[in-house]
Amino acid sequence: MNTKTKIPESFSIDHTVMSAPQIRKAGLMTGPHGDQISKFDLRLVKPNCGAIPTGALHPIEHLLATYMHEHLDNIIDCSPMGCRTGFYLTAWGDVSAEAVQSALINSLKQILNTVWSEVPGTSEKECGNYRDHSLFGAQEYAKSILKGFGES
Ligand SMILES: [Zn+2]
Repeated sequence: MNTKTKIPESFSIDHTVMSAPQIRKAGLMTGPHGDQISKFDLRLVKPNCGAIPTGALHPIEHLLATYMHEHLDNIIDCSPMGCRTGFYLTAWGDVSAEAVQSALINSLKQILNTVWSEVPGTSEKECGNYRDHSLFGAQEYAKSILKGFGES
């Protein structure tokens, strides 16, 4: 391995003792011009005990892309983890895990009330795998994640 290769912080965290759902602030970075960026792991399913199927994760991704912005300013990106147990979120500024958790809970509640025609970007023109969307699956996982947060 190249000695300059930087191991991502999340690989140094013991995934066998992680609980879910939980929001973990993974870092606060400062750029060359002083701008700050907060990084988060949004762990939705306990690692190695399950994973959100892609058909359910996919509409959650599309919906969080709009709903999270309604509850939290300065989001740069919110993308699914390859292991399908959660999302990475980055945002401008020094953002608290509590603010991200509250935005996520509100967004998941919105997902429960979403109808298919409201899911953004589900046409062949707008999405890289438009056939793989299960809003039913997204809503069922949203329900169990909300329950895990102590929300009903
Ligand atoms: Zn897509």
